[in-house]
Amino acid sequence: MECREVQERLSAWLDQETAEPEAAALAAHLESCPVCRREAEAWRRLDQVLADLEAPTPSGLAPQVLSRLPRRRSRWQRSLSLAASLVLGITLGGALAGNFFAPLNGEGNGGEVLAFEAFQDFPQGSLGHLLTYPADEDSQA
Ligand SMILES: [Zn+2]
Repeated sequence: MECREVQERLSAWLDQETAEPEAAALAAHLESCPVCRREAEAWRRLDQVLADLEAPTPSGLAPQVLSRLPRRRSRWQRSLSLAASLVLGITLGGALAGNFFAPLNGEGNGGEVLAFEAFQDFPQGSLGHLLTYPADEDSQA
C-alpha cells in the first residue's frame, strides 16, 4: 500500500471504520513507515483536542453561577433611585437654563424677555414681521 493511499484512509482507520484485510495492511504500513506514523499521530491528537472541546458541563455549575448573580433590587429601592434622578434632573436643568439666559439678557433671570425679543426679530416682509409690526408695513406702503 502506498503512503498516499494510507494517509487517505487514516481517519477512517483510527475511527475503526476500516474492514479487513485493508485494516491489517494499513497497520503493517504504519509499522514500517515513519512518515505515515507521524500523520496517524497528528490525527490522534486532533481527535483528542476535539474530544476535550466536547467536554460536558460540570454538574452543579448552573446553581453556582446563579448564586453569584446579584439579587434583584426591591421595589422601594428602584422608586428611590427614580426619585433621586428626577430631583437631580430638575436641579441641573434649572441651573443650566439660568446660565443660558442670564448672560444674554445682561441682568438676572429673564428668559421670558429673551424669548419675547427673539420672536420680535422677524425678517422684513415675513408673516411674523407683518403680525408684529403692522404699522411699519402701512408706513412703507
Ligand atoms: Zn507511508
